Amino acid sequence: MAADAPSSELGVGRPTKRRPGSAVGGLPVADSRPVLDGDAVLGLRCTVCRYPVAQTGIPWCPSCYGPLEPARFDTGGTAFSSTVARIPVGTRKAPFALAYLDLDDGPRVLVHLAEPEVVPLGARLRITGMDEGDLLAEVAS
Ligand SMILES: [Zn+2]
Repeated sequence: MAADAPSSELGVGRPTKRRPGSAVGGLPVADSRPVLDGDAVLGLRCTVCRYPVAQTGIPWCPSCYGPLEPARFDTGGTAFSSTVARIPVGTRKAPFALAYLDLDDGPRVLVHLAEPEVVPLGARLRITGMDEGDLLAEVAS
């Protein structure tokens, strides 16, 4: 390897742009973000310990390694935390808000908020749709 080789030949200095689901080294990459199906978040629940997971396509319970079954989780819950990003990230323009939402009957999920404002901890939120492949939530009225 020549010491004066351009950094692009060395594979450094340029971030790799990759979209979820695109291939890396010829292998497909699963998009692990939760999916909204009508009025429910799709996921899995352990048949042994009842641990909820807001993903599909994982082979066993991340808590006890037990078998999983398909589950649908209600879209309402309480805010565990939230923040406002004041820098652009990917295709997102600043400011935008994110929150961790503890679904009433399911797991904790990361959501984008409709308004770029921090919500109080424990605020009632409801997932209302998808935005660029991410769950979108707003304060429940
Ligand atoms: Zn389990």
